[in-house]
Amino acid sequence: MRQPDNIAAMIQDEQNYDAAVVGAGVVGLAAALALAAAGRSVAVVERNPPRRASGALGSDLRSVALTPASLDFLRSLGADLDGALTPISTMRVWEHDGAGALRFASADSQNEPAALAWVAANSGLAADLWALGAGRLELIEASLDRLAQERDAVRLELADAPPIRAGLVVAADGPNSFCRRSTSTAARSAPPPPNGRQRAIATVARMIESHCHTAWQCFGRTGPVALLPLADERAVSVIWSGAASEQEALLGLDDERFRAALEAATEGVAGGVLAVDERLCFPVTQTLAADLNPWPRVLLAGDAARTLHPLAGQGVNLGLEDARQIGAMATAGGDLGAAGRWRTYARERRRRSKLMMTLMRGLLSAYCGQAVNGPWLRWARNSVVRRIDASPTAKAQLAREAMGLGALAA
Ligand SMILES: Cc1cc2nc3c(=O)[nH]c(=O)nc-3n(C[C@H](O)[C@H](O)[C@H](O)COP(=O)(O)OP(=O)(O)OC[C@H]3O[C@@H](n4cnc5c(N)ncnc54)[C@H](O)[C@@H]3O)c2cc1C
Repeated sequence: MRQPDNIAAMIQDEQNYDAAVVGAGVVGLAAALALAAAGRSVAVVERNPPRRASGALGSDLRSVALTPASLDFLRSLGADLDGALTPISTMRVWEHDGAGALRFASADSQNEPAALAWVAANSGLAADLWALGAGRLELIEASLDRLAQERDAVRLELADAPPIRAGLVVAADGPNSFCRRSTSTAARSAPPPPNGRQRAIATVARMIESHCHTAWQCFGRTGPVALLPLADERAVSVIWSGAASEQEALLGLDDERFRAALEAATEGVAGGVLAVDERLCFPVTQTLAADLNPWPRVLLAGDAARTLHPLAGQGVNLGLEDARQIGAMATAGGDLGAAGRWRTYARERRRRSKLMMTLMRGLLSAYCGQAVNGPWLRWARNSVVRRIDASPTAKAQLAREAMGLGALAA
């Protein structure tokens, strides 16, 4: 058995940081860089350091659409992303076999940013931020095994690495967050959409014609399929969500049948689909942690705090808002884990998450499921869509909200 004086010596040997971030996804790395920019010493603990990945068609199978607000924040941290981004200059949203469509162009947002959003490969973005962290952050390749509250710090026990202590822990360890579970924080699930449990398929498709920097989103009977433009002018990132049973059937198709199904679901945009890459499948849930500051020295951020339906592509953007707020609130001096310091963060970020979750559910309820697919409801829906499309003011407001620049983002 170790003697108490040996234990005291071991504690002295442990590295101490103002903050430790668990998880080096896009959100965790952005939060760590923002804390470092606020003058704090920061360690990042990650079990699988990010690496650039690409599928058979040459692009990452998973991309994210970043709002102008997210991009401004990443640039303020020193990220040079110019070569990694594909602009979305127009967007078309419509219902399969419908008689109305919403069309947005970057000019609709009343001339502010040059694009509605920018598409980045998920793995490439995280790998770039990890490289940016070298020299500014202590990057620790290890898995977090245990979190323990102490009076003036949190102790992080790591597999295959010495333990560390931090005045604040930012848990950005993804949807199944070990930190969230370690703090006994429940993740409450929003009710599924009317047509039940959903799954999302992510892949890359090569189109027959150029995407012309357009993003398409078509609402099918059981869920939406979105195509995002990639750097190669004929390649698009595909996120196709729908009722779990239907997505599982789609996953069982060979390449040619899947290609044909995707072409039919997107009504032949960009001349149709020439080829498809390997398919990845994700469960789609909307969950929100009961408390985003469950211990005085622990904050939840990104998917550890909430998960959203990929429908509006807002998951990473909400996570980057978390990171930006953490950085801004860390600039005031003093102990990062002082009692009550993060209650505003917890309250405001939960409120914003709930709002987005309600919007996603509202959209899914309006489009998906038996009950809303009768002819009269389809006619009413398409009439409303045509009226909004004809109103420059309504479109400008919608475009600004989607870009993270509107009143709802405040
Ligand atoms: C199909 C699909 C499409 C999407 N499209 C979009 C989109 O277009 N736009 C958008 O904004 N969002 C999109 N999202 C959501 C977005 O991808 C996520 O919200 C975002 O990636 C979450 O980032 P994160 O950093 O919080 O978590 P993650 O990226 O999940 O990172 C968590 C990290 O924590 C690490 N980790 C976990 N446990 C431990 C541990 N015990 N010890 C050490 N490390 C640990 C993991 O290895 C991982 O690297 C999409 C999601 C899906 C599923």
